[in-house]
Amino acid sequence: MIPQRLLAVFAIAVLLGACGQEGPPRPDTMPAGAPPPVEEDAPPAEDEPDPPAPPIEEDDPPEPPPPAFELPSGWHGAPGALLPGSSTVKGSTGVTDPSVIVPEMVFPMAEGPAFANSQIFGQGGGGYAGGQWPGPGGSENDPRNFDYPWTDNFCEVRLDAKHATDLCPGGKAHKGQDLRPKTCENAVHWLVAPEDGWISHVGSISVNIMGAESGMKYKFLHVQMPVPDWVKTGAPVTQGQPFALASDLLSASSRATTVHVHFEIHGAAEVDGALHSGALPPYTSLVESYLDLIDANPAMAEPVAQPSQDKCLTPQ
Ligand SMILES: [Zn+2]
Repeated sequence: MIPQRLLAVFAIAVLLGACGQEGPPRPDTMPAGAPPPVEEDAPPAEDEPDPPAPPIEEDDPPEPPPPAFELPSGWHGAPGALLPGSSTVKGSTGVTDPSVIVPEMVFPMAEGPAFANSQIFGQGGGGYAGGQWPGPGGSENDPRNFDYPWTDNFCEVRLDAKHATDLCPGGKAHKGQDLRPKTCENAVHWLVAPEDGWISHVGSISVNIMGAESGMKYKFLHVQMPVPDWVKTGAPVTQGQPFALASDLLSASSRATTVHVHFEIHGAAEVDGALHSGALPPYTSLVESYLDLIDANPAMAEPVAQPSQDKCLTPQ
Protein backbone atom coordinates (compact mmCIF):
# COMPACT_ATOMS: atom_id res chain seq x y z
CA MET A 1 0.00 0.00 0.00
CA ILE A 2 1.30 3.40 -0.99
CA PRO A 3 1.41 5.93 1.83
CA GLN A 4 -0.97 8.85 1.32
CA ARG A 5 1.84 11.35 1.76
CA LEU A 6 3.73 9.82 -1.13
CA LEU A 7 0.65 10.07 -3.31
CA ALA A 8 0.30 13.76 -2.47
CA VAL A 9 3.92 14.46 -3.35
CA PHE A 10 3.50 12.57 -6.61
CA ALA A 11 0.42 14.63 -7.49
CA ILE A 12 2.29 17.90 -6.85
CA ALA A 13 5.18 16.75 -8.99
CA VAL A 14 2.81 15.95 -11.87
CA LEU A 15 1.14 19.33 -11.59
CA LEU A 16 4.44 21.21 -11.53
CA GLY A 17 5.67 19.21 -14.47
CA ALA A 18 2.53 20.09 -16.40
CA CYS A 19 3.30 23.76 -15.80
CA GLY A 20 6.72 23.31 -17.31
CA GLN A 21 8.41 24.65 -14.22
CA GLU A 22 10.10 21.55 -12.95
CA GLY A 23 11.98 18.57 -14.16
CA PRO A 24 14.60 18.15 -16.85
CA PRO A 25 13.98 19.66 -20.30
CA ARG A 26 12.18 17.43 -22.76
CA PRO A 27 14.38 16.05 -25.50
CA ASP A 28 12.55 18.02 -28.19
CA THR A 29 13.33 21.32 -26.43
CA MET A 30 16.95 20.62 -25.73
CA PRO A 31 19.65 22.59 -27.46
CA ALA A 32 21.64 20.76 -30.10
CA GLY A 33 24.58 18.89 -28.72
CA ALA A 34 23.34 18.90 -25.13
CA PRO A 35 23.72 15.60 -23.32
CA PRO A 36 20.55 13.64 -22.76
CA PRO A 37 19.01 13.98 -19.34
CA VAL A 38 20.27 11.45 -16.88
CA GLU A 39 17.58 8.97 -16.00
CA GLU A 40 17.66 8.13 -12.37
CA ASP A 41 16.34 4.89 -11.12
CA ALA A 42 13.02 5.26 -9.48
CA PRO A 43 13.36 4.86 -5.74
CA PRO A 44 11.89 1.79 -4.17
CA ALA A 45 8.29 2.36 -3.24
CA GLU A 46 8.96 1.98 0.42
CA ASP A 47 11.53 4.79 0.47
CA GLU A 48 10.66 8.38 1.17
CA PRO A 49 10.93 10.26 -2.12
CA ASP A 50 13.25 13.23 -2.27
CA PRO A 51 11.43 16.52 -1.87
CA PRO A 52 10.99 18.49 -5.09
CA ALA A 53 14.09 20.45 -5.95
CA PRO A 54 13.81 24.15 -5.25
CA PRO A 55 13.34 26.30 -8.34
CA ILE A 56 16.62 27.10 -10.00
CA GLU A 57 17.46 30.74 -9.44
CA GLU A 58 19.04 32.44 -12.36
CA ASP A 59 22.34 34.06 -11.57
CA ASP A 60 22.20 37.83 -11.43
CA PRO A 61 24.42 39.47 -14.01
CA PRO A 62 27.78 40.32 -12.46
CA GLU A 63 27.93 43.73 -10.85
CA PRO A 64 30.23 46.17 -12.64
CA PRO A 65 33.33 46.91 -10.59
CA PRO A 66 32.95 50.02 -8.45
CA PRO A 67 34.68 53.11 -9.84
CA ALA A 68 38.13 53.72 -8.47
CA PHE A 69 37.03 57.08 -7.18
CA GLU A 70 33.85 59.09 -7.11
CA LEU A 71 33.56 62.83 -7.15
CA PRO A 72 32.95 63.88 -3.57
CA SER A 73 29.69 65.57 -2.75
CA GLY A 74 30.32 69.28 -2.90
CA TRP A 75 33.12 68.78 -5.43
CA HIS A 76 32.33 72.17 -6.94
CA GLY A 77 31.21 75.43 -5.42
CA ALA A 78 28.10 77.15 -6.73
CA PRO A 79 28.26 79.42 -9.78
CA GLY A 80 29.19 82.90 -8.62
CA ALA A 81 30.56 81.75 -5.25
CA LEU A 82 34.01 83.29 -5.42
CA LEU A 83 36.69 82.85 -2.78
CA PRO A 84 36.02 85.32 0.05
CA GLY A 85 37.58 88.71 -0.57
CA SER A 86 38.44 87.97 -4.21
CA SER A 87 35.71 89.85 -6.10
CA THR A 88 36.14 93.31 -7.55
CA VAL A 89 33.46 94.62 -5.19
CA LYS A 90 34.42 92.82 -2.01
CA GLY A 91 31.62 90.73 -0.58
CA SER A 92 29.73 90.53 -3.87
CA THR A 93 28.99 87.31 -5.65
CA GLY A 94 29.70 86.59 -9.28
CA VAL A 95 27.27 85.27 -11.87
CA THR A 96 24.89 82.93 -10.06
CA ASP A 97 22.77 82.00 -13.10
CA PRO A 98 22.98 78.18 -13.18
CA SER A 99 22.23 77.84 -16.89
CA VAL A 100 24.83 76.11 -19.01
CA ILE A 101 25.94 78.43 -21.79
CA VAL A 102 27.43 75.76 -24.08
CA PRO A 103 25.94 72.34 -23.27
CA GLU A 104 27.48 70.80 -26.37
CA MET A 105 31.10 71.45 -25.48
CA VAL A 106 33.53 68.87 -24.12
CA PHE A 107 35.89 69.60 -21.27
CA PRO A 108 38.85 71.54 -22.68
CA MET A 109 41.52 69.29 -21.13
CA ALA A 110 42.19 65.80 -22.43
CA GLU A 111 42.43 64.25 -18.99
CA GLY A 112 41.18 64.59 -15.46
CA PRO A 113 41.47 65.34 -12.73
CA ALA A 114 41.40 69.05 -13.35
CA PHE A 115 40.65 71.84 -10.96
CA ALA A 116 38.81 75.05 -11.60
CA ASN A 117 40.09 77.49 -9.04
CA SER A 118 41.94 80.75 -8.62
CA GLN A 119 45.61 81.39 -9.35
CA ILE A 120 46.12 84.59 -7.39
CA PHE A 121 43.77 83.76 -4.52
CA GLY A 122 44.62 80.07 -4.29
CA GLN A 123 47.50 78.69 -2.22
CA GLY A 124 50.68 80.53 -3.09
CA GLY A 125 48.76 83.35 -4.71
CA GLY A 126 49.82 86.89 -3.96
CA GLY A 127 46.40 88.47 -4.33
CA TYR A 128 45.85 91.61 -6.35
CA ALA A 129 46.80 95.28 -6.39
CA GLY A 130 49.68 95.19 -3.98
CA GLY A 131 47.82 93.60 -1.15
CA GLN A 132 44.60 95.57 -1.41
CA TRP A 133 43.10 92.18 -2.27
CA PRO A 134 45.48 89.91 -0.33
CA GLY A 135 46.15 86.31 -1.29
CA PRO A 136 46.88 83.46 1.10
CA GLY A 137 50.58 83.11 0.25
CA GLY A 138 52.31 79.76 0.72
CA SER A 139 53.27 77.46 -2.13
CA GLU A 140 51.63 77.55 -5.53
CA ASN A 141 52.16 73.81 -5.74
CA ASP A 142 50.29 73.16 -2.51
CA PRO A 143 48.22 69.96 -2.91
CA ARG A 144 45.11 71.97 -2.04
CA ASN A 145 45.43 73.66 -5.43
CA PHE A 146 45.15 70.23 -7.04
CA ASP A 147 42.10 69.03 -5.18
CA TYR A 148 38.38 69.70 -4.96
CA PRO A 149 36.27 71.73 -4.50
CA TRP A 150 36.20 73.80 -7.65
CA THR A 151 35.66 77.53 -7.31
CA ASP A 152 34.22 79.94 -9.86
CA ASN A 153 36.55 82.88 -10.53
CA PHE A 154 34.88 84.63 -13.48
CA CYS A 155 34.13 87.78 -11.42
CA GLU A 156 37.45 87.77 -9.59
CA VAL A 157 38.97 91.22 -9.24
CA ARG A 158 40.70 92.89 -12.17
CA LEU A 159 40.81 96.64 -12.59
CA ASP A 160 42.29 97.37 -16.00
CA ALA A 161 40.23 98.45 -19.00
CA LYS A 162 40.63 95.22 -20.96
CA HIS A 163 38.80 93.39 -18.21
CA ALA A 164 35.58 95.38 -18.54
CA THR A 165 32.41 93.31 -18.28
CA ASP A 166 28.81 94.15 -17.50
CA LEU A 167 28.28 90.76 -15.87
CA CYS A 168 30.21 91.39 -12.66
CA PRO A 169 29.74 93.92 -9.83
CA GLY A 170 32.21 96.72 -10.33
CA GLY A 171 32.19 96.40 -14.13
CA LYS A 172 35.65 94.82 -14.41
CA ALA A 173 36.65 91.26 -13.68
CA HIS A 174 38.75 88.26 -14.61
CA LYS A 175 36.29 87.26 -17.37
CA GLY A 176 37.49 83.66 -17.52
CA GLN A 177 38.02 80.55 -15.48
CA ASP A 178 41.42 79.29 -14.37
CA LEU A 179 41.87 75.53 -14.68
CA ARG A 180 44.72 73.62 -13.15
CA PRO A 181 45.58 70.26 -14.69
CA LYS A 182 46.14 67.20 -12.57
CA THR A 183 49.72 68.05 -11.70
CA CYS A 184 51.90 71.16 -11.61
CA GLU A 185 54.13 69.79 -14.40
CA ASN A 186 54.79 72.12 -17.29
CA ALA A 187 53.98 71.27 -20.90
CA VAL A 188 52.62 67.77 -20.41
CA HIS A 189 48.86 68.29 -20.11
CA TRP A 190 46.97 68.53 -23.42
CA LEU A 191 44.28 71.07 -24.09
CA VAL A 192 41.55 69.97 -26.49
CA ALA A 193 39.05 71.63 -28.80
CA PRO A 194 35.71 72.03 -27.01
CA GLU A 195 33.79 71.41 -30.21
CA ASP A 196 34.24 71.07 -33.95
CA GLY A 197 35.43 74.29 -35.52
CA TRP A 198 38.66 75.98 -36.48
CA ILE A 199 41.65 77.81 -35.04
CA SER A 200 40.74 81.48 -35.24
CA HIS A 201 43.85 83.03 -33.70
CA VAL A 202 47.29 82.05 -32.45
CA GLY A 203 48.88 84.63 -30.18
CA SER A 204 52.13 84.82 -28.26
CA ILE A 205 50.81 82.51 -25.53
CA SER A 206 47.20 82.03 -26.62
CA VAL A 207 45.05 80.04 -29.02
CA ASN A 208 41.45 80.83 -29.94
CA ILE A 209 39.03 78.30 -31.39
CA MET A 210 35.72 79.10 -33.08
CA GLY A 211 32.97 76.60 -32.43
CA ALA A 212 31.09 75.69 -35.61
CA GLU A 213 27.93 74.55 -33.85
CA SER A 214 27.56 77.02 -31.00
CA GLY A 215 29.14 80.02 -32.70
CA MET A 216 31.11 80.61 -29.52
CA LYS A 217 34.77 81.54 -29.46
CA TYR A 218 36.95 79.73 -26.92
CA LYS A 219 40.07 81.50 -25.70
CA PHE A 220 42.97 79.58 -24.17
CA LEU A 221 45.70 81.60 -22.45
CA HIS A 222 49.06 80.40 -21.03
CA VAL A 223 49.53 77.70 -23.66
CA GLN A 224 52.98 76.25 -24.21
CA MET A 225 54.84 77.72 -27.15
CA PRO A 226 55.54 76.84 -29.82
CA VAL A 227 52.24 75.14 -30.55
CA PRO A 228 52.25 72.15 -32.94
CA ASP A 229 52.96 73.13 -36.56
CA TRP A 230 49.43 72.46 -37.75
CA VAL A 231 47.92 74.92 -35.24
CA LYS A 232 47.54 77.92 -37.52
CA THR A 233 44.72 80.37 -38.07
CA GLY A 234 42.06 78.69 -40.18
CA ALA A 235 43.10 75.11 -39.40
CA PRO A 236 40.06 72.90 -38.74
CA VAL A 237 39.71 71.14 -35.39
CA THR A 238 37.44 68.37 -34.28
CA GLN A 239 35.83 68.16 -30.88
CA GLY A 240 38.27 66.74 -28.34
CA GLN A 241 41.31 67.17 -30.59
CA PRO A 242 44.48 68.02 -28.66
CA PHE A 243 46.06 71.21 -29.99
CA ALA A 244 48.38 72.66 -27.32
CA LEU A 245 49.85 72.01 -23.88
CA ALA A 246 49.08 73.83 -20.66
CA SER A 247 52.05 75.84 -19.43
CA ASP A 248 53.23 78.41 -16.92
CA LEU A 249 53.90 81.13 -19.49
CA LEU A 250 52.74 84.57 -18.42
CA SER A 251 54.14 86.16 -21.57
CA ALA A 252 56.25 85.02 -24.50
CA SER A 253 59.35 85.30 -22.33
CA SER A 254 58.14 84.97 -18.75
CA ARG A 255 57.08 81.90 -16.82
CA ALA A 256 55.77 83.93 -13.93
CA THR A 257 52.51 82.07 -13.47
CA THR A 258 51.81 78.45 -12.55
CA VAL A 259 50.80 75.71 -14.94
CA HIS A 260 47.19 76.32 -15.79
CA VAL A 261 44.92 77.44 -18.57
CA HIS A 262 42.85 80.59 -18.47
CA PHE A 263 39.70 79.63 -20.34
CA GLU A 264 37.14 82.03 -21.77
CA ILE A 265 33.95 81.66 -23.77
CA HIS A 266 32.94 84.58 -25.98
CA GLY A 267 29.67 85.02 -27.79
CA ALA A 268 26.12 86.10 -27.10
CA ALA A 269 23.79 84.41 -24.65
CA GLU A 270 21.11 85.12 -22.11
CA VAL A 271 22.54 85.43 -18.62
CA ASP A 272 20.41 86.35 -15.61
CA GLY A 273 17.48 87.01 -17.94
CA ALA A 274 19.20 89.45 -20.28
CA LEU A 275 21.16 89.05 -23.48
CA HIS A 276 24.89 89.63 -23.04
CA SER A 277 27.67 89.54 -25.56
CA GLY A 278 31.39 89.28 -25.03
CA ALA A 279 33.00 87.09 -22.38
CA LEU A 280 30.35 84.78 -20.93
CA PRO A 281 30.59 82.87 -17.64
CA PRO A 282 32.14 79.48 -18.49
CA TYR A 283 31.88 77.85 -15.06
CA THR A 284 28.63 75.89 -15.48
CA SER A 285 29.66 74.67 -18.94
CA LEU A 286 32.92 73.44 -17.42
CA VAL A 287 31.07 71.65 -14.60
CA GLU A 288 28.76 69.90 -17.06
CA SER A 289 31.52 68.90 -19.46
CA TYR A 290 33.72 67.69 -16.60
CA LEU A 291 30.89 65.44 -15.40
CA ASP A 292 30.72 63.97 -18.90
CA LEU A 293 34.48 63.39 -18.89
CA ILE A 294 34.34 61.67 -15.51
CA ASP A 295 31.25 59.63 -16.39
CA ALA A 296 33.22 58.14 -19.26
CA ASN A 297 36.45 57.80 -17.26
CA PRO A 298 35.66 57.48 -13.53
CA ALA A 299 39.28 56.92 -12.55
CA MET A 300 40.12 60.35 -13.96
CA ALA A 301 38.33 62.03 -11.07
CA GLU A 302 40.86 61.13 -8.42
CA PRO A 303 43.47 63.68 -7.37
CA VAL A 304 47.02 62.43 -7.75
CA ALA A 305 50.19 63.01 -5.74
CA GLN A 306 52.11 66.04 -6.91
CA PRO A 307 55.70 65.83 -8.09
CA SER A 308 58.22 67.51 -5.84
CA GLN A 309 57.56 71.20 -5.56
CA ASP A 310 61.09 72.02 -6.65
CA LYS A 311 60.50 70.26 -9.94
CA CYS A 312 57.41 72.24 -10.74
CA LEU A 313 58.80 75.54 -9.55
CA THR A 314 61.77 75.27 -11.89
CA PRO A 315 61.00 76.81 -15.26
CA GLN A 316 61.26 74.18 -17.97
ZN1 LIG B 1 42.98 83.59 -15.47
